[in-house]
Amino acid sequence: MENVMVVCRNCKVEKGVSEMKKDPRCKNGVQKICRDCENNRKKKNYELKKMFVNWKKDLEIEKQKVENEEIEQKKAMKREYDKRYREMKLQKKKNEVPC
Ligand SMILES: [Zn+2]
Repeated sequence: MENVMVVCRNCKVEKGVSEMKKDPRCKNGVQKICRDCENNRKKKNYELKKMFVNWKKDLEIEKQKVENEEIEQKKAMKREYDKRYREMKLQKKKNEVPC
């Protein structure tokens, strides 16, 4: 059993069962992937996950920024509207001045 050699499906290197990823459901009790490749895969997955989390964070920040900008824009629009409204009323009053 210990002398069985398995070719890793990732690096294509023939390795002993003890160097392969253990899995009792598989033939020889190991998967066709060596521990090195499995560790690399885990590391890559971890890095991908980390990247994704960072990306999501950035996205949240961007979203927040846009929301804040929108709020500022709305406030500015409201100010502009109020200003014009006042001007319009003033104009109306002026026009209402009897001759
Ligand atoms: Zn491998």
